[in-house]
Amino acid sequence: EMFGQLTTGLESAWNKLRGVDVLTKENIAEPMRDIRRALLEADVSLPVVRRFVSSVSEKALGADTIKGVRPEQQLVKIVHDELVQLMGGEVSDLVFAKSGPTVILLAGLQGVGKTTVCAKLAFYLKKLGKSCMLVAADVYRPAAIDQLTILGKQVGVPVYSEGAEGKPPQITKNAVEEAKRKNIDAIVVDTAGRLQIDKAMMDELKEVKKAVNPTEVLLVVDAMTGQEAAALVTTFNIEIGITGAILTKLDGDSRGGAALSVKEVSGRPIKFVGRGERLEDLELFYPDRMAQRVLGMGDVLSFVEKAQEIMRQEEAVELQKKIMSAKFDFNDFLKQSQNVAKMGSMSRVIGMIPGMNKVTPAQIREAEKRLAFVESMINAMTAEEREKPELLAESRERRIRVAEESGKTEQEVSQLVAQLFQMRAQMQKLMGMVQGQEAIAGMG
Ligand code: GDP
Repeated sequence: EMFGQLTTGLESAWNKLRGVDVLTKENIAEPMRDIRRALLEADVSLPVVRRFVSSVSEKALGADTIKGVRPEQQLVKIVHDELVQLMGGEVSDLVFAKSGPTVILLAGLQGVGKTTVCAKLAFYLKKLGKSCMLVAADVYRPAAIDQLTILGKQVGVPVYSEGAEGKPPQITKNAVEEAKRKNIDAIVVDTAGRLQIDKAMMDELKEVKKAVNPTEVLLVVDAMTGQEAAALVTTFNIEIGITGAILTKLDGDSRGGAALSVKEVSGRPIKFVGRGERLEDLELFYPDRMAQRVLGMGDVLSFVEKAQEIMRQEEAVELQKKIMSAKFDFNDFLKQSQNVAKMGSMSRVIGMIPGMNKVTPAQIREAEKRLAFVESMINAMTAEEREKPELLAESRERRIRVAEESGKTEQEVSQLVAQLFQMRAQMQKLMGMVQGQEAIAGMG
């Protein structure tokens, strides 16, 4: 099992927290060392491990306790979420050209599984209902052309080849023309691999890229090479500009470091993973599923998620009561900003109101930025001012004081105050609508 050792290493971290009531700086020190050791042993690079551990510690200490959830369970969830982030958060699906054939350029060192990936990708595209063609642009190894031809037959897709004669940029260009003529949706180009990175290889890739302007440039890397894989992705990205990586041989006894660090180190996502030699052994890379496999604690994760959900709902109900009683103040404003930033309860409340959409990820990122801005001003208010926003609306001196203390302008403070009153008014109106509808529904 590929993450076996990592999973076991992390388990010792949770075990050390059994019986504690709350996560503290003191009691997480040992578990954090375990997490650090487990990641280093999985061949994740030191800078990545450092950032990871410090972020987990910070979140563990800042986390609100959740009713019914034990501290070690909460830590499992925090590590899970951080692993998902580390691996890029969302799945990075294949991109298709808006017009004309989608051109997927595959690069990689010899032996990593590049030719096999060509065939697997063709198989994957066929399953999506797309017509596909393989292109033999590795002219230096006649065996590579033969191998691709055999694989093409196996998958049932045409293979474009000009033998060992032509030049890869021209071959690829001709292949694109052929694909256009035949109305083929996507072509997968097998480029030359070498034992090590060298200038000739990079130059050729650059030329092929220039010749056809590919939709995707994917570097195939071997998971067994650990942090070296992440370094390769970085180098190729800097040298030729790539859109992502494909990680092969995840079924082998790799320690997992590559899967964990490629995105963080290179800035480029893993798009697919290979888990075997068969055609169907290529899958999209899902950071959340991968994190679950690392932790091997699906039940704990879903339990914590449910508990968090219940807590958010309780908070949402509280907030809703406030809104309806027109007492929405700066404390609520702050709480609500925090919730939106955490994908929390307001998005849910707003989602429940007819005609309003759920909050999107982009809006949430925006909300996070906004939160920091708003927080500094609200923190500069007195407890009384927070509870009675009217005080700030009525007094310019108070607004100036808040501005000075928070390092913002008077205008920014005025805008914040105005925004609170606007929100009050809006919420009242919306809640009126909901109540009205409920009343109508109740009469039916
Ligand atoms: P290339 O030199 O990069 O084109 O590599 P090949 O496609 O010829 O693959 C090299 C070897 O790795 C072959 O024996 C493949 O069957 C094997 N291989 C490729 N991908 C995987 C994978 O995901 N898992 C395993 N176990 N073997 C793989």
